Amino acid sequence: MTYTEIQARYAALNLTIEKAQKETGVATSPITLIAVTKQQSIQNIRALLDLQHYTYAENRIAEAAQKWPALRAESPLIELHLIGALQTNKARAAVALFDVIETLDRPALADAIYKEALRVGKVQRCYIQINIGQEPQKSGVAPQDLLSLYKYACALSHITVEGLMCIPPEHLAPEPFFEKMHHYQQQLKLPCLSMGMSGDFISAIAHGATHVRIGTALMGEREVKTVK
Ligand SMILES: *Cc1c(COP(=O)(O)O)cnc(C)c1O
Repeated sequence: MTYTEIQARYAALNLTIEKAQKETGVATSPITLIAVTKQQSIQNIRALLDLQHYTYAENRIAEAAQKWPALRAESPLIELHLIGALQTNKARAAVALFDVIETLDRPALADAIYKEALRVGKVQRCYIQINIGQEPQKSGVAPQDLLSLYKYACALSHITVEGLMCIPPEHLAPEPFFEKMHHYQQQLKLPCLSMGMSGDFISAIAHGATHVRIGTALMGEREVKTVK
């Protein structure tokens, strides 16, 4: 997609999100659009940065490390989220690169993030990812282990749990999963609920999303080969 096409889509998408929130939304403050820039070119990212959009997400450490440090140096307002699975041995890079780690899903990872955040003197903002469809191949904490992980992470200094995140099962209606997520968010009284992608963000907003993560609906099909 061209620079101008992306900018036009961005304007339209913001209107759609606003309308969805006004008509069916549950969250009380404005929905945050997270632009998912994995496998998108710098040129595509620039189309959004030039419109003063500052919230972005990547799913791989190596790719984020290649793309974002230079962009960040230009725009101090950028807020970068990690939305892909994180190995404990990559915690150092993740803490260095990301403002928010949305994929905290186990105590060992909380330990690794804590150690690194302590070392560099940062308070690392995190969301807990829930494997809401209980799919064996997916990361995320099992719903029955959410409370204990939440308590575990809250007891650590240098980590702050701000919200919950999920990717519902691909071939099922997402609504029952969004409802469960909203229930957990209310139960834990957390401010953020990250759910909804290009295909289901309107429904996610109707079920309480505070953050929607949108890639292809904004920037078209992903082009750039993933950096290994
Ligand atoms: C890629 C990705 C998205 C964005 O998906 P689109 O369908 O392109 O909007 C959202 N969340 C996660 C976790 C992703 O990996």
